[in-house]
Amino acid sequence: MKITIVYDNEANPGLKSGWGFSCLIEAKEKILFDTGDSSENLIYNLRQLNIQPESVAAVVISHNHWDHTGGLKEFSKLNNNAKVFHPKSFSKPTEILPGVHSTGALGGLIKEQSLVVNTEKGNLVITGCAHPGLENIIERSRELGEIYGVVGGFHGFSNFDELEGIQLIGPCHCTQYKQQIKERYPGEFKDIKAGSIIEI
Ligand SMILES: [Zn+2]
Ligand SMILES: [Zn+2]
Repeated sequence: MKITIVYDNEANPGLKSGWGFSCLIEAKEKILFDTGDSSENLIYNLRQLNIQPESVAAVVISHNHWDHTGGLKEFSKLNNNAKVFHPKSFSKPTEILPGVHSTGALGGLIKEQSLVVNTEKGNLVITGCAHPGLENIIERSRELGEIYGVVGGFHGFSNFDELEGIQLIGPCHCTQYKQQIKERYPGEFKDIKAGSIIEI
């Protein structure tokens, strides 16, 4: 199982950064999770990372904020066969593709879904902005099995005890307390930006 961060507020050399998030999940099939804020930057980074848009089987949108939906329209022009799963598609955990579940929409005003991906070491939870509260996303994800890692935007999450026992912690995008999380979990912390690759 491999994840490539395609879009983030920070980027490795050769890639464009922008406020937003997107990553490619390579499980049995390829899934694009979120599309960043700028279609131009998204398409540019996909090219630089040698990701063929037409190879993607599904696009999952975490929630309807511009920094996650911005590239969707242009991406769909390059691949109109990919199934698109919007945040309101599911109200409870559902398997979208083999080994990949949506948590279902969580939260009040802002409905947001996260992904739970099976890996050999346990489940990897991938979040967009974590508006429903990362602790709530973690709680829902635990219904699907043990959590190995959590990657994505953690927003204002500060209940750091909740991450106890999780072996890979990759806060990025809108995470407000990245530095504090790094200090609390230095061994588990992974610095994530566009171009980062996680293989489990
Ligand atoms: Zn966001
Ligand atoms: Zn948001």
